[in-house]
Amino acid sequence: MIISEAKPFQEVIDSLKNYQKIFLFGCGDCATLCKSGGEEELKAMKEKLEAAGKTVLGMCIPESCCIAAKLKAETAKNLKNIREAQAILVLACGLACQSVKDNDRFGLKVIPANNTVFGAVMDSQGNFFEKCSLCCNCVLDSTAGICPVTLCPKGLLNGPCGGMDKGKCELDKERDCAWVLIYRELEKLGQLDKIRQNRPPRDFQKVLKPHKLLAAAKQQ
Ligand code: SF4
Ligand code: SF4
Repeated sequence: MIISEAKPFQEVIDSLKNYQKIFLFGCGDCATLCKSGGEEELKAMKEKLEAAGKTVLGMCIPESCCIAAKLKAETAKNLKNIREAQAILVLACGLACQSVKDNDRFGLKVIPANNTVFGAVMDSQGNFFEKCSLCCNCVLDSTAGICPVTLCPKGLLNGPCGGMDKGKCELDKERDCAWVLIYRELEKLGQLDKIRQNRPPRDFQKVLKPHKLLAAAKQQ
């Protein structure tokens, strides 16, 4: 899931300075789970915008903003209010914001209320952890399922840097070095030979953006 967090309200108000009538979008998926764009946050934003003199014409929370079919279904129920708006404020990730813009029939200004921060897993206590940097060259098989690209601030692929100190990361003494974690886990699995495996430099051809995956290609 994608973690987003609210921008400072002043930044939002500055973005809206040329627009009076606003329609709000949240997202029923990630932004609701990480409490940056669910019902509670949209209501709070409405109150703050109205206190700042704006007119909020309405709000909707599609099940998933980044899926056009779900976005369109919810948008269709709110067409009258969206048509009258001058700007749409999106309380969700950058994907949601662009999806709203791509599917907007009225050419409205679409403005993000959130910053998009990282891709995460959520544990059973509701904490979010960044675990994957979408590097396109997954090495988890040789690193005991621990991602060095993400957990090592330097993204080192072949063992720790010289700054590792008593198992801790040189950039954050509170945190275990990713490569120490990988070593311990490989040891538990009886696969320590993998620590010596040479992982080639990342293939940056694969990382070139923007990626796409066309529906027709998936069916082949
Ligand atoms: S190596 Fe890490 S960043 Fe790359 S795909 Fe695997 S989990 Fe994601
Ligand atoms: S100490 Fe370990 S986790 Fe920290 S930057 Fe060096 S290799 Fe990466």
